[in-house]
Amino acid sequence: MTGHLSTLEWGRSAPMGITMDLLTPKIADITEEGISMSGDLTAEALGLTDTDESIRGTLAVGLDLRSVERTICVTGVVEWTAIRQCVRCLKEFDDPMAFSVRVVYERETKAAPVTAKRDDQRKKKAAPAVEVEVEPEEPNNDIYHYVGDHLELAPMLREQLILAAPMHPLCMDECVGLCARCGKDLNEGPCHCVAEPTGGPFQVLRNLKQKNEEAAGR
Ligand SMILES: [Zn+2]
Ligand SMILES: [Zn+2]
Repeated sequence: MTGHLSTLEWGRSAPMGITMDLLTPKIADITEEGISMSGDLTAEALGLTDTDESIRGTLAVGLDLRSVERTICVTGVVEWTAIRQCVRCLKEFDDPMAFSVRVVYERETKAAPVTAKRDDQRKKKAAPAVEVEVEPEEPNNDIYHYVGDHLELAPMLREQLILAAPMHPLCMDECVGLCARCGKDLNEGPCHCVAEPTGGPFQVLRNLKQKNEEAAGR
C-alpha cells in the first residue's frame, strides 16, 4: 500500500498501482463527459488462462468510460501479442492483436434477471405491423451488467478477447503448410515427394465432369 491520496491517474498510462482501479472503476468517478484510463495488465489480472489465450508479456489497455443516465458506455482498445499455433504448418508464431472494445454496462435490477441478454425468442422478423423497439445506438454494443458501486471490467475484457481470437490462426496468409506425406514445412521449400498420381478426389470429380460434358456435347 502506498500512502498516495490519489492512486488513480486518469488519462495517462500508469503501471501496476492502478491495476485494481483500471479493472474495477467506481461508478461515482465516471462522469457524463467521460474519463479515460489506461495501463498494462497481465493475463492473470484478466483471468485469462493459457487455454483461453497465450499472451507474450502484458496487455495494453486504454478505455474511455462515459456515463449516460444509468448506463456506462465503455469504449477503447486492447493491444497484446498472442502466441498461436498455425493450423497449416503447426508452427508457433506471435500474433499482434488490437481489439476495439465497445460495450455498455447497465445497472442490474432485481426485477429483471440477466437471462435475456438477446431476446431472440421473441424476435419475429415477419411482423412489420408490430411496433419494433429500435435501438438508437449501434446494435452491436454488447450489454453487461453491474451491481453495487463499481464496474467489473475483467470478465468482460476476458470474454471480448477470447471472442477476438481467430478460429483458424495462420502464421501468414500464404502459408502453404506441411507436406501431407513427409511432413516437411513447404514454406521452407518443396519436398522430394512425387506428386500424387491419382490426383485425389477432386481430380476424380473433374474427370467425371469432363466425361459428362463430353457426353452432353455429342
Ligand atoms: Zn503456417
Ligand atoms: Zn513431402
